[in-house]
Amino acid sequence: MAGQPLGLTLKLAFYLLKQKIKGRKYFPLTMILEPLEACNLTCTGCGRIREYEAVLDRYMTVEEALRAVQECDAPVVSIAGGEPLLHPQIGDIVQGIIKQRRYVYLCTNALLYKRAFKVIPPSKYFAFVVHLDGLRETHDRSVERKGVYDVAIRMIYEARKRGYRVCTNTTLYNGTDPQEYHHLFQMLNDMGVEGMMVSPGFAYKEVAHHPIFMQRQQAQEFFQRIFRGANGIRFYNNPLYRDFLQGKRHYQCSQWTTPTYTVMGWRMPCYLIADGHAKTFQELMTSVNWDRYGWGRDPRCETCMMHCGFEGSAILQAMERPKELLELAWRSLRGQ
Ligand code: SF4
Ligand code: SF4
Repeated sequence: MAGQPLGLTLKLAFYLLKQKIKGRKYFPLTMILEPLEACNLTCTGCGRIREYEAVLDRYMTVEEALRAVQECDAPVVSIAGGEPLLHPQIGDIVQGIIKQRRYVYLCTNALLYKRAFKVIPPSKYFAFVVHLDGLRETHDRSVERKGVYDVAIRMIYEARKRGYRVCTNTTLYNGTDPQEYHHLFQMLNDMGVEGMMVSPGFAYKEVAHHPIFMQRQQAQEFFQRIFRGANGIRFYNNPLYRDFLQGKRHYQCSQWTTPTYTVMGWRMPCYLIADGHAKTFQELMTSVNWDRYGWGRDPRCETCMMHCGFEGSAILQAMERPKELLELAWRSLRGQ
């Protein structure tokens, strides 16, 4: 089974070409939509449910969600939260975004998967992204509830059987054995998961005191061990970003490639930190001084290696360097 669909690869290629022709410097690649911040879990490393505690009862309307997606105009929309499947109109939100011919990835902890199958039909434009931080013991510890791992695995199995595209998202924390991830990824490969996304945990200020977060060099060494033993695994992160995670390439953050719309508005500047919220996408793009953020510029960015800041940087830099672009295309095709 192949990784990222060819239709999506072509859509992204045309989109990037269009931005280049227009000479745009700041533009989105993936929009993150958070139609609610409430969740049915309380994961140890989650900043969202703590940061948005005061608005956990707020739900975005379908119209507002679709208006924000239209305004941002990114080819890919990742629906997160909170747990998106708790939103009473999540089916309408997904269908509305698909009607706009965008690729939709819905991040879920799987607990409400039976409801998901009822309100969201399979589509080539849609994939579930199931949260899995490790094998049974590790995952259940990370989400602070026993039995969630088993539900997640059951969801993946059932979803594949019903013809859904399925990806997974794994956040890596301190104190886990890299070999455990090799077992996990191999199993998910065998189950027909389209692609696995990995990232190091980000130390949100609400949870930064916790020893589960790795420092940058520690994370790089960890990722070297993860990727070294993972031949043939379908990772969804692009190969240049995976090099970056291992400390083999260096990028500065380009957080504008992944703007985030929440129940309070557009996060300024990024998915991870919010110094405020903009009312419109236009306001976000024109009022944030992007150069104020990133490594060496803001102490909150020092340990950040998250895809929302750096995966886009890898693509943008490759657009300017033909050799890197060829390498990106070649390694992506070969799944390296
Ligand atoms: S499932 Fe996601 S949103 Fe819910 S608590 Fe865990 S990390 Fe946070
Ligand atoms: S480095 Fe990370 S935390 Fe800082 S602005 Fe970029 S994405 Fe946000």
